[in-house]
Amino acid sequence: MFGKLRDRLDRFKKDTEEELSDGIIKPSNVPSDDETVSADSTSSTPRVIKKGAGKFGKRKKKTNPKKDGKTSEDEEQLKINEKKLDNILWNLETVLLESDVSPEAIENIKKNTRKLLSGRKIKRKDLRKEIESVLKKAIMRSFPVKKFVFDEFIKDIKKPAVILFVGINGTGKTTTIAKMANFIKKKGYSVILAAADTFRAGAIDQLQIHADNIGVKIIKHQGGGDAAAVAYDAVQHAEARKKDFVFIDSAGRMQTNSNLMDEIRKIKRVTNAGYTIFVGDALAGNDMVEQAKKFQEHIGIDGIILSKIDTDAKGGAALSVSIETGKPIMFFGTGQNYDDLLEFNASWFVKHIFD
Ligand code: GDP
Ligand code: GDP
Repeated sequence: MFGKLRDRLDRFKKDTEEELSDGIIKPSNVPSDDETVSADSTSSTPRVIKKGAGKFGKRKKKTNPKKDGKTSEDEEQLKINEKKLDNILWNLETVLLESDVSPEAIENIKKNTRKLLSGRKIKRKDLRKEIESVLKKAIMRSFPVKKFVFDEFIKDIKKPAVILFVGINGTGKTTTIAKMANFIKKKGYSVILAAADTFRAGAIDQLQIHADNIGVKIIKHQGGGDAAAVAYDAVQHAEARKKDFVFIDSAGRMQTNSNLMDEIRKIKRVTNAGYTIFVGDALAGNDMVEQAKKFQEHIGIDGIILSKIDTDAKGGAALSVSIETGKPIMFFGTGQNYDDLLEFNASWFVKHIFD
């Protein structure tokens, strides 16, 4: 999970460390005792050569430890001037672009990083630790909602709570509905599934299999029927039987198909669904973010579940989708089993992209 993002952030940390290691604060124009001034044969200006600069121009550590074991170099303050900061942020942008993070999310993370680093002085010995800490904070701050707690979410919810699930085919929508039903049932609530994906052959059977596995009731009509009618029936049933939740599956469709978008809008209107949850495949990266934005525009979404986070190496989707839609990530899908569902927590995400 997030392997590529982690590797790239590691590289970024090393590059930043090198960039900053060059910026030791010293009185200007006075060569210090580990520097000599040489006359460059091809230039009239004196060149400052750092003694002890290694093969790649890196400085070697001084070996004059103080009584407490620290070297004076450890204590040196490295200043982050604007030019260095620009270089660091440019590098950060590259790393994030390569990881499928969307432009708006990148701007957000860069802005946070700039705020945290601008004009700062950092002790050489703390450099690596500080870079990581700044990066973690910058990413944390970029999430509009830091965590989702289901128990809080449903505290004042009106029953039956009607939740409409939207998203395109193959993203894991049906599996996610089943995971959610399983999650809710384990918490002691009752739930009815509405097989309102009447468009795709096999969708109703697929949901039926999940319902049987979990042990929840499903409302379905014959394939090809009116999706809104199925959803409506399920809500009526839930009201009559005092059920807590109705989960409506909808036909997965390309966000560009306006007829099918109209159908989902109709389901939402007819059932008066209180929540619309977009299910997106984390692996689809920026494509998934574009889908979420389209559903947000045409239907209106209240939250996001990202499936297949367990197989996502890039990590960009999770960083982008919330910023781009302004809606919270509620859950992560973390595998193919019914229990592989995790309440969203930005700290969890940040921990997994660094450790
Ligand atoms: P739908 O067409 O959007 O309803 O997608 P499905 O629910 O049928 O899922 C498509 C495939 O993705 C299935 O093989 C699922 O097992 C798989 N899948 C769904 N969620 C996850 C997840 O969180 N992690 C992994 N690894 N696979 C998942
Ligand atoms: P419109 O036809 O798009 O204007 O939307 P309506 O509000 O008339 O209803 C949308 C759909 O919900 C209809 O196609 C019906 O199949 C279904 N519907 C509405 N009311 C009922 C009802 O009382 N029972 C059932 N089973 N379905 C209903």
